[in-house]
Amino acid sequence: MFKREEIIEMANKDFEKAWIETKDLIKAKKINESYPRIKPVFGKTHPVNDTIENLRQAYLRMGFEEYINPVIVDERDIYKQFGPEAMAVLDRCFYLAGLPRPDVGLSDEKISQIEKLGIKVSEHKESLQKILHGYKKGTLDGDDLVLEISNALEISSEMGLKILEDVFPEFKDLTAVSSKLTLRSHMTSGWFLTVSDLMNKKPLPFKLFSIDRCFRREQKEDKSHLMTYHSASCAIAGEGVDINDGKAIAEGLLSQFGFTNFKFIPDEKKSKYYTPETQTEVYAYHPKLKEWLEVATFGVYSPVALSKYGIDVPVMNLGLGVERLAMISGNFADVREMVYPQFYEHKLNDRNVASMVKLDKVPVMDEIYDLTKELIESCVKNKDLKSPCELAIEKTFSFGKTKKNVKINIFEKEEGKNLLGPSILNEIYVYDGNVIGIPESFDGVKEEFKDFLEKGKSEGVATGIRYIDALCFKITSKLEEAFVSNTTEFKVKVPIVRSLSDINLKIDDIALKQIMSKNKVIDVRGPVFLNVEVKIE
Ligand code: ATP
Repeated sequence: MFKREEIIEMANKDFEKAWIETKDLIKAKKINESYPRIKPVFGKTHPVNDTIENLRQAYLRMGFEEYINPVIVDERDIYKQFGPEAMAVLDRCFYLAGLPRPDVGLSDEKISQIEKLGIKVSEHKESLQKILHGYKKGTLDGDDLVLEISNALEISSEMGLKILEDVFPEFKDLTAVSSKLTLRSHMTSGWFLTVSDLMNKKPLPFKLFSIDRCFRREQKEDKSHLMTYHSASCAIAGEGVDINDGKAIAEGLLSQFGFTNFKFIPDEKKSKYYTPETQTEVYAYHPKLKEWLEVATFGVYSPVALSKYGIDVPVMNLGLGVERLAMISGNFADVREMVYPQFYEHKLNDRNVASMVKLDKVPVMDEIYDLTKELIESCVKNKDLKSPCELAIEKTFSFGKTKKNVKINIFEKEEGKNLLGPSILNEIYVYDGNVIGIPESFDGVKEEFKDFLEKGKSEGVATGIRYIDALCFKITSKLEEAFVSNTTEFKVKVPIVRSLSDINLKIDDIALKQIMSKNKVIDVRGPVFLNVEVKIE
């Protein structure tokens, strides 16, 4: 905490001095917790749900009222709506199926099988029979069967499961049997039911919308088709409603998403639930795929289908594919990857990789950590001392009553060289998925590498870690280790850097995996010629 009064007094006396000196009160974060190794964490929404939300608001702005339609539709309704074409539509529907409930009796043979397992059946026979009967009748759920059998026979549930498996094989190898119920393949199946019921309850005209899931038994999923998708559908019922309402609604919706590039094309499909010549497809342009994508279909329901549902006014329906719209808005080339990114490759960008390059060893104690800063500054200042030469840094640490004098000696004995090698100021960058050490200046860099390194510096993400920074942390963490183990001297010698570990750096496994699988590189080569001798007294 700041000593506020002292600071204010200092500032009153000499503002400039106080302003500069109080700078040290703002403690910098330690290197592994510094930017870009820290990254803001925020939640992320799904593009499909975002589009659904935007479409809901768009419909509401246009005066529509929200409804939820039945998801499960009896095939009879499809016949009612499509007439002779129903089979073609049902072909794209999923039917709901379930496992049959076998009629299993408690024969003498079964009783003796249970008794062979060491269980007395006689006094429990009746309750066991009741359970089997209840299951057949549907009063007992399948997932309660084992528990109920175990309770009836007063045995453990493990034994109950064994009996089910060994004595009642009828429950195994059951094959699902289809019902006449289907999962809706488009919202229309539900609109007929909803509009029909509202006819006597709601004054005309009315404008309804629903954004919900539909299911299609597509032969195969592809870049614009999924087995399950969302339809943002609406129905307008009332005298005078016609195809022009469809065009206006399509424009109203799409223009709220910023689309100006769309076209209406009469649908070749000519579904029997639409009035002839009203079924129209809406296409929007996908800039990345460079093709027109069908995003919606609209039409006026046929008076034949409407009459069967007791509806005696025109109803215009428009069904817009949410995923298709999300694909175009978010510039996704494949609906499968957009909806289920978790099943596809996840690429870390350079910013992500930069947050994963960290110092391997960093001293824990503040005094030793702070010495690193001093060490780095001295090394940078004296890096070009002509050899033979040495740079000595001395420091005394107090731990309770004990004092430790530390002498760090950085030296170069060979004649005619510099104290430190030329790559000492190289900084680690992440560029195009590569982790690279980039020199301060490009003088003397081979022509073939220049372009790549220059681009790395201007377009890549800087980690803010130079070789000398990481190496000095290596020296000070070794010093900390020496204190703990009572070692009195040690040496650090790094002539040429070849890998991250040579300069006390590490990288997260997921970044490393990506670098390897994408044929990217970690190139931190370079001569640093660091020789250090440390003595502790
Ligand atoms: P397509 O010709 O592209 O297969 P469709 O003519 O069968 O589509 P409609 O029955 O008119 O589609 O459905 C209305 C809208 O629902 C389509 O314009 C489309 O945006 C969307 N849609 C239909 N089927 C799928 C699907 N399998 N996956 C994603 N969206 C779909």
